[in-house]
Amino acid sequence: MTARYFADVAIVGDAVERDVVFTVDGGVFTDVAPGASNQEAERLPGIVVPGLVNAHSHAFHRALRGCAEGGSGDFWSWRELMYAVAARIEPEEYLCLATAVFVEMALAGVTVVGEFHYLHHRPDGRPYDDPNEMGSALIEAATTAGLGLTLIDTCYLRGGFDAPLQGTQARFGDHDVDAWEARVAEIAPHQDVKVAAGIHSVRAVDAESAREVATWATTREAPLHYHLSEQRAENEQCIAFTGSTPAALLADVGAVTPTATAVHGTHLTDADIRMLGSVGTAICACPSTEQDLADGIGRFGDLAGAGCRLCVGSDGNTLIDILQEARSVEMHERLRTGHRGTFPAREVVAIASRLGAGALGWNAGRLEAGARADLVALSPSSTRTSGVDDPLLAAAFAASAADVTDVVSGGRRIVADGTHLTVGDAPGALAAAVRSVLER
Ligand SMILES: [Zn+2]
Repeated sequence: MTARYFADVAIVGDAVERDVVFTVDGGVFTDVAPGASNQEAERLPGIVVPGLVNAHSHAFHRALRGCAEGGSGDFWSWRELMYAVAARIEPEEYLCLATAVFVEMALAGVTVVGEFHYLHHRPDGRPYDDPNEMGSALIEAATTAGLGLTLIDTCYLRGGFDAPLQGTQARFGDHDVDAWEARVAEIAPHQDVKVAAGIHSVRAVDAESAREVATWATTREAPLHYHLSEQRAENEQCIAFTGSTPAALLADVGAVTPTATAVHGTHLTDADIRMLGSVGTAICACPSTEQDLADGIGRFGDLAGAGCRLCVGSDGNTLIDILQEARSVEMHERLRTGHRGTFPAREVVAIASRLGAGALGWNAGRLEAGARADLVALSPSSTRTSGVDDPLLAAAFAASAADVTDVVSGGRRIVADGTHLTVGDAPGALAAAVRSVLER
């Protein structure tokens, strides 16, 4: 079915265009025509930007918002809180929570999300009757919210370099990599769902199993994602047990590829950065989470300079604002280096859209024929954006998730005038879903 949308102002590539007609068929753009007249097209108000892409999410972490940020400690003490929540969630709660969280993302202008999924089995580690019941809940949630989903099914086999799975971790594990592979083979992709591979981390997956997961992804030309060097302690343990940094270890097993994405990459050596850049691996920065967990500041400018593509994710979901995450890549770089402008406005928008889409295996996040038809309208007249004349600067450095008024995802309008068209009461849905998890 053909649909047409019209934008008074749109950011097309690096340019600001006026009077743009977007023609959509089968969920993708068939034509993007600036300088056109509005021929019975549905008007999108304000500044239209490409659909935003959240390249790294753990939907269930949203239940921790307000429980964890006020605490002390570090990543490892936060992890105990996260495990306590993870232990409570059954498929019914997972579906409700993920639906509400994906609706929150839609309202923030996200049209494609990468869900890094390792909450696979029952709390005691036994599989559900359908071993992919939890993954199916995520797929149903994304469908209800209207998002494109890359389900990054994540292999998680041990509790540490010399530790078995313990406690809550039991439900993350698949016993061995063959069982992971057999389970993932049963997940059916479709037009709005892609299946990708995850290696949780070098802590959680041994080298030979990591090699198998990497081979699975390479063989299928599927994205491969992994947490990398978020914590100094992970680096120290990896070197002590294997003699390699996590990045070097992953390269040794074939997991550093042009279609791979390293999440965080906060504490990398110069040699790691050169190696990742020479391959063109993507780096998914998650600045709000890295702030919240006191992880540190990644060397984003060095990574981009070496050849890595940067994208962003909301990760722990203490904040769901992809424009803010992308802006923070530049802002963290300013804090780290004392210089401004490593990532100019057009690059900030690309980090929030097409670069994330590429990391998740989508032709999306770009306003051109052939791409997934994802459009986001931002208010140019809010308290944040009023008085900012340049639409590109407004999107990159002024607007927030609160300025998203209208969203088209896969050719279908999912948000109109700030309201989600399937789940009208998003705050109510979030409150009920979080309560059902915490009071369980
Ligand atoms: Zn993560």
